[in-house]
Amino acid sequence: MGASRRGFLRVGGLVLVSATTSGLAAPVLAAPALVGLKELNIRTLSFDCTNTGEQLNRVDYWVEGKYVPDALDEINEALRDFRTGDVYPIEPRLLDLLYQLGRSLDTNGQFALTSGYRSPETNAMLHQHDSGVAINSLHMRGQAADISVPDRPLQRVYEAALALRVGGVGYYPNPIDEFIHVDVGRVRRWEG
Ligand SMILES: [Zn+2]
Repeated sequence: MGASRRGFLRVGGLVLVSATTSGLAAPVLAAPALVGLKELNIRTLSFDCTNTGEQLNRVDYWVEGKYVPDALDEINEALRDFRTGDVYPIEPRLLDLLYQLGRSLDTNGQFALTSGYRSPETNAMLHQHDSGVAINSLHMRGQAADISVPDRPLQRVYEAALALRVGGVGYYPNPIDEFIHVDVGRVRRWEG
């Protein structure tokens, strides 16, 4: 029997191979899901930074149980304060939150990012113009991001973020510039 006569069925990361012509309906479990293992051992994120036009494509920021310093540097750079150019370390827990969010939405961890790190100067300026911007924003500690997810309704992203119960989640369904805020502070929610 040639390979072309076999049926392949992927179920939750496991690949089932069945001999469709033998009449012996005995599915064979292929070698333990390499694909699934790879996913578990590598965490990847992608960002479309809408304010700078920069793209970060599939950065493996966590591999085999360790954060990858070069990858974190790349992410810190991309999530910098785009107004001042200031770069600040983004808290890895925030990246894990985003990674989890991407998985729960069945994506490859791709986000449109409208705000990552904010310098104290930028935050003070934003607070002056919009009292909805917290004076002690977690953006200033690299612990917050304003994001949306391509091809996923914002409401669904919001609900998925709330379901993680990791930190703060804000909902901003502005027609032109919709996003949700996520942070790794205490668990809370609000609508902007
Ligand atoms: Zn925010």
